[in-house]
Amino acid sequence: MLNVVIFGAPGSGKGTQSDLIIKEFGLEHISTGDVLRAEIKEGTELGKIANDYISKGQLVPDELIIDMLANVLDSKENSKGVIFDGFPRTIPQAEALKKMLNERGTDVTLMINLHVEEGELINRLLERGKSSGRSDDNIDTIKSRLEVYHSQTAPLAEYYIKEGKHHTIKGVGTIEEIFERIKERIKERINIHL
Ligand code: ADP
Repeated sequence: MLNVVIFGAPGSGKGTQSDLIIKEFGLEHISTGDVLRAEIKEGTELGKIANDYISKGQLVPDELIIDMLANVLDSKENSKGVIFDGFPRTIPQAEALKKMLNERGTDVTLMINLHVEEGELINRLLERGKSSGRSDDNIDTIKSRLEVYHSQTAPLAEYYIKEGKHHTIKGVGTIEEIFERIKERIKERINIHL
């Protein structure tokens, strides 16, 4: 399986690039943010709990996210591979992902770290907020999300560097230019594994 973790700060373009990667390589998409927003919309118990954290720009607790991910992963079992978008976001989540994939006879193939400057991130998120209808795309919540990213999520880069799977990609330019950079890295990885 080709399992790609797409990583980066809020607003770095993970969702946009995920769509292109999926089309090119025939992967399944798991976005924990999308799954959580669907739970909120349906008014489930998990959705109600998650909403309290998301609206404050905080992370939803690991246990809830890891259980949720295990369920989603089981539904994608017969695929060519999966792109993980917005997960893992903490070291315990990365460890849980490795365990879950290993139990299914596979592992993370590579991690793509989309790098974008902070000012640009804030502009993108404010712009998206005009049409996304997302309760967390407002300036106060954006600031909390960026703080949480720096303190809890960014250290994960180190984890994937140690695993030998980390690739930094410049996340500025046209959508196609950025995608070309990502595609090159994925193809290199696939060749190494052939
Ligand atoms: P963004 O990357 O723009 O912040 P997401 O849609 O990935 O958007 O996530 C939105 C929110 O959902 C996060 O701020 C967080 O509260 C919650 N969330 C999503 N994925 C996770 C995760 N893996 N662990 C904890 N919380 C998560």
